Amino acid sequence: MPTTLTETIERCRASGLRRTKALEELLATLMQSPRPMTLAELASSPRLRDQCDKATVFRLLQRLAEKGIVRRLGLHERAAYFTLLLPGSHQDYLICTGCGTIESVKAPCPVHELEDEIRRKSGFRNLYHELEFFGTCPACA
Ligand SMILES: [Zn+2]
Ligand SMILES: [Zn+2]
Repeated sequence: MPTTLTETIERCRASGLRRTKALEELLATLMQSPRPMTLAELASSPRLRDQCDKATVFRLLQRLAEKGIVRRLGLHERAAYFTLLLPGSHQDYLICTGCGTIESVKAPCPVHELEDEIRRKSGFRNLYHELEFFGTCPACA
C-alpha cells in the first residue's frame, strides 16, 4: 500500500472513522484519480461498484468532508466533486457555473507567497488555503 494511503487511513482512524473495506476502496479511488470525482463516478468506479451502494459512498464522503480528509467542490448537490485533502499538497480549481464542469487551475498558485507571509506574521502553523474560481466555460459560452 502506498504510504500516503496508509497515512490517510491512519488520519481517518485518528478522527474516529471506522476502518472498513468500503472506506479503504473509496480513499484508494480518490487517491488514484487525477481530478476530483462526482458521487456518481465514485459509486460506479471499479473498486466501489461491487463494494457498496451510492448511499453508502455518499455517507462516507460526508463524514470524510466533516473530518477535513475530503474536500467538497462545486456548486450544489448535483454537481459536487470530491477530492482528497492531503497535507502539504494543494490544487486550485476552475468551475463552470453553467454545466458544473471542473478543472484544475493551470497556473502557478499566486497565494503561496502570501501564505508564507501570513505564517511568518501570525505564527500560525499548518496553514493552507482553498481557491475556487467560477465562470462560464468555453462550451457553455
Ligand atoms: Zn460549462
Ligand atoms: Zn492555491
